[in-house]
Amino acid sequence: MQLHIDTPLVESSATACRAGQRVWLKMDALQPSGSFKLRGIGHACATRVAGGARRIVSSSGGNAGLAAAYAGRRLGVPVLVVVPETTSARARELLAREGAEVRVHGLSFQEANAHAQSLLDPSDAFIHPFDDPLLWEGHAGMIDEVAAAGLRPDAVVLAVGGGGLLSGVVAGLRRQGWNDVPVIAVETLGADAYAQSLAAGERIELPGIASIATSLGARMVSAHAFALAADHPITPVVVSDAEAVAACLRFMDDHRIVVEPACGAALALAYEAGSRLGGFDNVLAIVCGGATATVAQLQAWHAQLHKGPGI
Ligand SMILES: *Cc1c(COP(=O)(O)O)cnc(C)c1O
Repeated sequence: MQLHIDTPLVESSATACRAGQRVWLKMDALQPSGSFKLRGIGHACATRVAGGARRIVSSSGGNAGLAAAYAGRRLGVPVLVVVPETTSARARELLAREGAEVRVHGLSFQEANAHAQSLLDPSDAFIHPFDDPLLWEGHAGMIDEVAAAGLRPDAVVLAVGGGGLLSGVVAGLRRQGWNDVPVIAVETLGADAYAQSLAAGERIELPGIASIATSLGARMVSAHAFALAADHPITPVVVSDAEAVAACLRFMDDHRIVVEPACGAALALAYEAGSRLGGFDNVLAIVCGGATATVAQLQAWHAQLHKGPGI
């Protein structure tokens, strides 16, 4: 059972940085749960329920939890989401709206996650937000759709949190035989576990997350995503929170769609003047979306982050 939708592939004249360059937007912000996560999580939930699981459990107060909640409702099984006290009222409301049971436990993701694990019984399916081959298989479908639309990109730009999206996109590229298509992997400063790990030559764990792009806030990327950089051309890029939020606001005006700063990070690269994407003729930007930021929140962040001395 397919729970996600096939999304539009839209050419954007707003983001092309020079004459002759074409930027293509894969609009996964339009998924019913608000982000690309429904592809992989929908696939994982459907597979686990078909295999006999009777309840879905998640410890994500973000888009992974929302995708699990949506998937569970569609599949007709109950969903439990354990979130830390730091989870916004907005996120809790969105989860409740999908009919999930929301339990608040602990001050951090780690505490909520440990509590969720302790509640599992054998008929539960625990859904990890990024480190699961079923997720990557589901995410990979977005590249099949791009190929079916007749586009062969010469670079893909996307955001990286724990690396599930990256793992899925690389799997999709390989499925098409596009092993040489480079991936530009964007994070925000303070959530840049991937860039730091590649620089160090080993997976590092961030002491904490110092970015407003909480959907990129995995303190450590998956071993699979880290290992991929050894046999696929992947370039890590780090942008500031201010750049990510500014990109969200420009994107909202240009395309009339609201996305989180996590997605704005990838868009920031497409909007960059004298862009690092300048050498590519056909750029595919994954508009991963994100449901937890409101327009008012984006504007407040923008005001806060651009309020420097002399400005
Ligand atoms: C989860 C998420 C990401 C990061 O995806 P990973 O698979 O963790 O790398 C990026 N953007 C949004 C909106 C997300 O929800």
